[in-house]
Amino acid sequence: MPSGLIEEKFQKLLKTLENNNYSAEDLMIVQEAFILAQKAHQGQKRISGRPYITHPLATAEKLAELGLPLAIVAAGLVHDVPEDTDYSLKDIEKKLGSEIAGLVAGITKLGTLKYRGIERYAENLRKMFVAMSNDIRIILIKFSDRLHNLETLDALPREKQIRIAKESLEIYAPIADRLGMSQIQRELEDLSFKYLKPREYRQLEKILPEKYKIREKQLEKIKKRVAKALTDRKISINKMTIYGRTKHFYSLHQKLQKKEINQDFEKIYDLIALRIITPTVAGCYSILGILHELYKPIPDRIKDYIAQPKPNGYQSLQTTVFTKTAGIMEFQIRTPEMHQKAEFGIAAHWSYKKNNSRPSKQDLKWINELVEWQKKIQSNKQFLQEVKLDIFQNQIFVFTPQGDVISLPEKSTPIDFAYRVHTFLGDRCIGAKVNNQMSRLNTELKNGDIVEIIVDKNRQRPNPDWLEIAKTSMAKSKIRAALNKTKDSG
Ligand code: MN
Repeated sequence: MPSGLIEEKFQKLLKTLENNNYSAEDLMIVQEAFILAQKAHQGQKRISGRPYITHPLATAEKLAELGLPLAIVAAGLVHDVPEDTDYSLKDIEKKLGSEIAGLVAGITKLGTLKYRGIERYAENLRKMFVAMSNDIRIILIKFSDRLHNLETLDALPREKQIRIAKESLEIYAPIADRLGMSQIQRELEDLSFKYLKPREYRQLEKILPEKYKIREKQLEKIKKRVAKALTDRKISINKMTIYGRTKHFYSLHQKLQKKEINQDFEKIYDLIALRIITPTVAGCYSILGILHELYKPIPDRIKDYIAQPKPNGYQSLQTTVFTKTAGIMEFQIRTPEMHQKAEFGIAAHWSYKKNNSRPSKQDLKWINELVEWQKKIQSNKQFLQEVKLDIFQNQIFVFTPQGDVISLPEKSTPIDFAYRVHTFLGDRCIGAKVNNQMSRLNTELKNGDIVEIIVDKNRQRPNPDWLEIAKTSMAKSKIRAALNKTKDSG
């Protein structure tokens, strides 16, 4: 590739950053990082034969497109320098300062893995969570780095393609999901899916456009009718878009595998949906009411994620309704801020004029909890099992009698609930009411259950049998701790 093209890519990066409202003076640091990266990677090539510098440039471009601060973008430009070149972290610190050097140090630590198989997998996850708890920005750079590697996977041998795609699908994508970064999650999943199941991927690629076209036509009519109803009521909206899962092949593939759907596209109601963005929360609820006046809602499919956000911060109202012209269809209603958060997750904290805000401690609490647990778990196998349960399994929301939301992995029991709320509650638990009914402690909780724990203040220690009943690693480790303590003192 002639150097003119590289210069062009760099100019594009500067343009993206200017659009994020940075001045030429602000951008000096990015210029410096580019000069350093170019020198360091001079003469290096990727396996594809292209100059190495194209990779950090693409990584930085993605970070800029996410609206992330300049330090992160600059770190993206030099992220492979200490590992792959003669330049060291010290050189980066001298030229670009300690903040950027710190970020690159975090990435470099994630770099090499000496293990194989399950050991490699577990070690990878452990390192990732430690890095995230030290500085959550590191994972953002890692996502961009990984996305570009996936985009250029064609150049690698098949065996390596599969390993990288699998790791991306099983480790990176669920973490992106847990951080609410649905746009990044979608890209990671689809790029990996293409290499892991090429036949299924191509098939969806072939049949989907036709399906969409049909649905889109039907939805246009609905859209007009809804728009008119909202104008008549003088409800202002920012935007009403027909939103399709046009590109989200992997989630579609997963849905089609489900028994009740059984490859039948007609049963995927959110294949295409109408998304309405309106300035205020009150507006969201008004619109939901109007939609239900126009169309009959399907029971149990009305979801209020505004009042009760998902654990990853996702907020929206969702409803699925019957329509004469388009059959069953889904609506999503949200404010512009909720929309940012729904697409970009924690990255939304930095972007869009809120440059000084950071993700709250509460948002990141689960990462620190996980790092604490993993210190206690020696066996990689056990670690993987528990992590899969706590992070990568679907979450349910249950409520305390006061209406506080507690999120737990699917199949959790009142014991898990009690320990999630407070150790005191767990250790002294003697019974539970689920939705006001006395229930056994091994009852599997369901979304929306209201759980009340009955305690005996004189109870000294948990029942050792609970180790079998509890599903979460948090409850198990707290039970073990309490049992050990009473052993010591007795
Ligand atoms: Mn890289």
